[in-house]
Amino acid sequence: MRVLGIETSCDETAAAVVTEEGVVLSDVVRSQVEAHAPYGGVVPEIASRDHARAIVPVIREALARAEMKPGDVDGIAVTSRPGLLGALLVGLSAAKGLSFTTGKPLVGVDHLVGHLLAVFLRRGEAEAAAPVPSYPFIALLASGGHTALYRVDAPRLSSIRELGATRDDAAGEAFDKTAKLLGLGYPGGPVVDRLAATGDASRAKDVVPRPLAHRESLEFSFSGVKSAVMRHVATLGKAPEGQALADLCAAFQASVVGTLVDKAVRAAKVEGVPRIVLAGGVAANRGLRARMAEACARQKIALFVPSFASCTDNAAMIAYAGALRLAAGEADDLALEPSTKTALPRVTRKGAGLR
Ligand code: ATP
Ligand code: MG
Ligand code: FE
Repeated sequence: MRVLGIETSCDETAAAVVTEEGVVLSDVVRSQVEAHAPYGGVVPEIASRDHARAIVPVIREALARAEMKPGDVDGIAVTSRPGLLGALLVGLSAAKGLSFTTGKPLVGVDHLVGHLLAVFLRRGEAEAAAPVPSYPFIALLASGGHTALYRVDAPRLSSIRELGATRDDAAGEAFDKTAKLLGLGYPGGPVVDRLAATGDASRAKDVVPRPLAHRESLEFSFSGVKSAVMRHVATLGKAPEGQALADLCAAFQASVVGTLVDKAVRAAKVEGVPRIVLAGGVAANRGLRARMAEACARQKIALFVPSFASCTDNAAMIAYAGALRLAAGEADDLALEPSTKTALPRVTRKGAGLR
């Protein structure tokens, strides 16, 4: 089965063709980063307009690279939630149009489920034999809009349970907001990651607290880390420069990464599941990958990390999740509506505050 995936939930216009085994036949991602960079974050209205301009060429290119015509696909998967409504509508409209004209089934995919299953994608020869987790596994999803731990018993919505999530900012949001405070531009994750590599966290560790580090809870809180950096910048009167900037980035990253690693390992222990999967844009972070590998090796937990291209937003993960739905006999009709919220059950209330 070859499924076309379409993703427009936020600031990437993406299309891909993937088989139900996860083999990526094509994967096109057109980022809008430059359009949003001057504003230091995603502007919904700009996102919708940019998606509308890019969607047809991006889909054409994904099909062309897979050497296929629209009628050659076995189904059309599209991100229907969660995301910006106007942005989602562009992908949904394109998917519905293609489904209607080709007569191929349409399946809506929850973007977060796409992230959770991205580890199964196979890009080219190099990944053909890469190990994949067996079910159940613990997934740490850390992205720009979400941060949570899940127990995944099977690749379908009803078999995925949230174990704990962030009560305030997502990890990626913390990276982006902190980078903005430090004048490092948008998106912040990759820049902070690069600077952190040349910094010494111990030289700035008193500036940045370790959020919820010693609690048994599987919930996260990242707004305090960002506020600590904000207070530090206010005290200095300006953002630090040179080595001091690198040290601060290293301390910030060590704090965020340390919490993500501790809670993921705790979740694996609590659930008695010795398999952890990383997912979402923050899983591209080199510090997180390294610390997680060390912790898992120590605790005899098997760690599965998607390639960089599979961590950040892409349509291949949407095509794959959609292919599994189609293979299970599921499909949606043309009445499929977008939603700002994930369909995954939540156990953590946002903004609940820390007790
Ligand atoms: P969501 O998936 O929650 O809807 P999103 O789709 O915008 O949000 P992703 O594309 O999965 O999020 O991830 C983008 C986020 O990942 C941004 O916040 C970005 O700063 C962060 N990110 C990307 N690369 C890195 C990195 N190397 N280190 C840390 N963070 C990173
Ligand atoms: Mg994005
Ligand atoms: Fe995402």
